[in-house]
Amino acid sequence: MKRIVIAIDGFSSSGKSTMAKDLAKEIGYTYIDTGAMYRAITLYCMQNKLIENGSIDEKTLQENLSNIQLTFQLNKDTGRPDTYLNGINVEKEIRSMEVAGWVSSVAALGFVRRELVAKQQEMGKAKGIVMDGRDIGTVVFPDAELKIFVTASPEVRAERRVDELIAKGEEASYKDVLENVKKRDRIDSTREESPLRQAGDALVLDNSHMSIPDQKKWLLEQYYRVINE
Ligand code: C5P
Repeated sequence: MKRIVIAIDGFSSSGKSTMAKDLAKEIGYTYIDTGAMYRAITLYCMQNKLIENGSIDEKTLQENLSNIQLTFQLNKDTGRPDTYLNGINVEKEIRSMEVAGWVSSVAALGFVRRELVAKQQEMGKAKGIVMDGRDIGTVVFPDAELKIFVTASPEVRAERRVDELIAKGEEASYKDVLENVKKRDRIDSTREESPLRQAGDALVLDNSHMSIPDQKKWLLEQYYRVINE
């Protein structure tokens, strides 16, 4: 059967990761969470004191970037890949509000983007992948056979994120999360290097009022339509 690249882009907490993971599992593809890669680099900066007094030590980050190892390993309990930073499982740490507060600034650095985009292109060159992020359909895989752009209102996205954090036993205030969602939207959409925008040939999915099973069904239909073309 034809193997393709599926690019899923969209705003923060739009539910694209859940959709992408479920689809990959269902069709036997590899799921790659590119947001987790930017989050892991941000965590590295925090752990190594490269983010202090409200600024990023870009010089030291750039010098060390090629030595930072990012890998994914399937977690047998969740059935989903966990993110490893230099061999250590950091799946929980990279989802913290502290990392969320800095990740868009780290992801706006050109040298960080170039390094990670190259890694992502390497990971997907054999096809058979579902990759989610902000610039997958525009920059990483402009020739992806199926491109989806997911969106929902900031309020709906903040509510989902709060539920997720609470389910993980973390503290979360709706006001702080909504502020973070809006801030990341703004930085992601206005940065100079590969800003978040919809690819001209992407299908738009506004899932503000859609259930997860309905989204899953819609996405599967798009996949079967493309592979049977
Ligand atoms: O998808 P997630 O919310 O985990 O992504 C975290 C952040 O990483 C985003 O807000 C964005 O700033 C950045 N990102 C990016 N390009 C990608 C994926 C994520 O700039 N392909």
